[in-house]
This record gives sequence, C-alpha cells and structure tokens, in this order.
Amino acid sequence: MITKVEHPAAKLAYHRKNVWDCLGAEERDRVMKFNEEYKDFLNQAKTEREVFEAALADLKNAGFSSVDLKTGLKPGDKVFFANRQKALIAAVIGPEPLINGINIIGAHTDSPRLDLKPLPVFEDNGMVFFKTHYYGGIKKYQWLSIPLSLHGVVVRADGNSVAVHIGEESGDPIFTITDLLPHLAKDQIDKKMADAVPGESLNILAGGIPLAGEELKDRFKMTVLEYLHRRYAMVEEDFISAELELVPAWPARDIGLDLSFVGAYGQDDRVCAYAALRALIDGPVPKRTAMMVLADKEEIGSSGNTGMKAAFFKNAVREIAARTTSPYNELVLSKALSNSLALSADVNVGLDPNYPDVTEKMNTAWLGYGVVLTKYTGNKGKYESSDAHAEVVAQVRRVFHNAGVIWQSGELGKVDQGGGGTIAHLVAKHGVDVLDCGVALLGMHSPFEVASKADIYMSYQAYKAFFTR
Ligand code: MN
Ligand code: MN
Repeated sequence: MITKVEHPAAKLAYHRKNVWDCLGAEERDRVMKFNEEYKDFLNQAKTEREVFEAALADLKNAGFSSVDLKTGLKPGDKVFFANRQKALIAAVIGPEPLINGINIIGAHTDSPRLDLKPLPVFEDNGMVFFKTHYYGGIKKYQWLSIPLSLHGVVVRADGNSVAVHIGEESGDPIFTITDLLPHLAKDQIDKKMADAVPGESLNILAGGIPLAGEELKDRFKMTVLEYLHRRYAMVEEDFISAELELVPAWPARDIGLDLSFVGAYGQDDRVCAYAALRALIDGPVPKRTAMMVLADKEEIGSSGNTGMKAAFFKNAVREIAARTTSPYNELVLSKALSNSLALSADVNVGLDPNYPDVTEKMNTAWLGYGVVLTKYTGNKGKYESSDAHAEVVAQVRRVFHNAGVIWQSGELGKVDQGGGGTIAHLVAKHGVDVLDCGVALLGMHSPFEVASKADIYMSYQAYKAFFTR
C-alpha cells in the first residue's frame, strides 16, 4: 500500500475547503433540514414588512419581548426593538458589562423589486396596466415575462390599513410585464442593454374586461377599481398612501440533481438575515450582549428612518446601555460602541464559470466553499468602504477556526469592474469594528438568485460562533 506523504511545506499555502468534504452524513442531514426551514422563511417573507413579521414571530416564540415591556434589563433577558414594521433589532443581554462591547450582526431585509407608483392605474387599448418604479439595482430585462405577485399595504384616508397579498396561493391571479416578440425586436436587440427596457415601460398587466358599455369612461380601468373597492374598500386615491411591491411569484426551490443549491428571489440579503436570526435564537446566552440588526432600505442607500443611516441602531444600544449600567452617562454609550465588534452580514459575489472575466479567480468566493469574509467592498479605489482592520479580520478568523466554521475570503469582483457596498461603513461610523461576512450568490439582484446550501448552513454556524465569542 502506498501512503501519500505530504511535504511539510504544503501547510504553508492557503487552500480553501469544500464544505461538503468536511461534513459527515449526520451533518449533511442538518444542512438539508436547515435549508428546508430557510426556504419556508423565504416563501413567507418576500418583502421587508414580511421579513419583519416573520422574524418578529420567531423571536416571540423564542421568548423575546418588546423592550418597552421591560422595566430594567438583566443578563439572560431577550428583547427586541421594532422600528415601524420594517426594521428590527433583537438582543440577548449577556453578563458582561455593556461598556465592554456588544457582538453585533447586521443584515438587511429589503431586496430589489418593482414598486407601484403613487398613481399606477391606466388603461390602453382595452387593457389595464399598473405603472411601476423599480427599487434598487435591477437589470430591467430580467423582470419581463415572469410571473409577479403583489405584496404590501394600503393605508386608507381614515388611517385603517389593509394588507394586500395576491399571487402566492394556487388559484390566485398573478401579474406580468410583457416582452416584445423576437420577430419585431430588431431595434430593441440592437440597443445597448441599459437602454433596451426603459424604466417607464415596466407596466404590469392587471386587467382586460370592461365594467360597462362604451358610455362609461375608462371602463376597463373601472373594472379594476371596482374590484379593489370590493375587496379592499379602497379608492384610487388610496394608492397614494400605499406601499405595493411586485416580486417574483415563484417559491424558493432546490437546484441541481444533488439538491446542492437554493434558487429563490430575495436571498440578498434574507439569507444572512435568516441565518443571523436563527443564530441568535438557537444560541446559548452569550457572555457579551449579542445583538441582531435587521435594517431596511439598504438597496437604495440605507436612507430613511428604517435604514442604517438612521438613529435607531444607536438609540437601541443607548437604551440597553442605560438600562443595564448604573450610573449611566453618554460615555458608557460611546465606550460600548467602540468596544463592540460587528459582522455586516450581507451577500457577496460567487465565482460564476459562465462569467469568469468579471471576477479575479483567486480573490473571489466559490460556491460551496464556506461563509465569505470580505475585508473591503466599495468601487474603484475601495471608495466608501470601511475596509476592516487586519486585527479585526484576524479576530474573526480566530473565532471561526475555534468553532470549526468553514470560511473563505472573497472580494466583490475585479478591480475597476464595478463594485458595491453594504451597511458595514454605516456601522463603523459609530466607532464599532466591523467586517463583512456572508454568503456567496450567483445572479445577485436577479429575480432568481442562487446560493449553496452548504454556505447557507456555514453562515448560520459562523454567526452562532460570533454571537457567543
Ligand atoms: Mn445586500
Ligand atoms: Mn443588494
């Protein structure tokens, strides 16, 4: 028998590990089971409001309660801060004084989509359409000729709100944006991709039966308004105070004969949001206080009072500091923040063999090779990236090594190819040390994003280890 002898120098080189190689049969089962639960979550949480509701329900089931119901806070307490049904912070209070810092994991709940305009309904040639305004960075052509469902809320003038959820149940109607037939698409095909689908052409097909005879004005549109009034007691003006979002109507699915991948809408960034939520819920009471942040509006620059640029994150830390520290003053807050360590839990690009030219092979994450540490994001010369300190990266590496978490390093594409950002720099501005850490995706921001089940599970393991470090 020949035994393979490894040269002592072989250990010097960095090799990424395939997660599946490292899993026994039992752990493979756990990976598959976790992903079944993840897909269920994706199917019930296709908008930021639905992520909020699903996460809040899971937190309540796990014994978390609103911070407003607590008088003081003591180690072991589990609390949440709800921010307008869109953003959510949850924390498990640890025995260590808060001034020593918090372990924070922050993900975002919003995903690219098509929003209805404030006045969306019009008719043309016997058909009714809804006008849309896209949200976040999309390749517009990807949203043509696919089934779309409508999710959201209408707040009527009297202040009562009604939830809208059309296109997810079998038997529900769905919506679509029609594309041009190839026979007549010569001019469209000759255009640059950026110009081929104008934003104002993203009109949703929403009806086509007239309400009454030709004497009625806008009689096709009136059928739709009459339906909406009957079902939701709303009038056209109520659209102005509504948030109605069109998202792909299909459910999360397994991809591949070996069921290795999850294909779904909205995995950026619900994959990290779900893994962080589960890590906080499933983990033991940590020594340092553990905090999960689910922020809204990341895809449009984190502005607005539910986005990461807003005060709610710092306010939540302040409230925990004030309720756990006696005497409390503002110094406690600033010290707690600067002693904190955060993971910005967001997705990164995975190397796609169909498009090898846009990434640099050595420094791009591979699907199935573990959760991704991203030292910096940004574009051109790392512009607007918080670029984590070497000490911070080493600290997180150590946590993962000790916990047996399989991870890899990845950057967002080739230098000068493009780029992007996360909430990392907005956490860093409070003085917190922060490192990007999440799951690699193919087809990011498309209506059907792909992630490896092994990486999804590893992100959960990584976040659990981080919360209890
Ligand atoms: Mn993201
Ligand atoms: Mn994104």
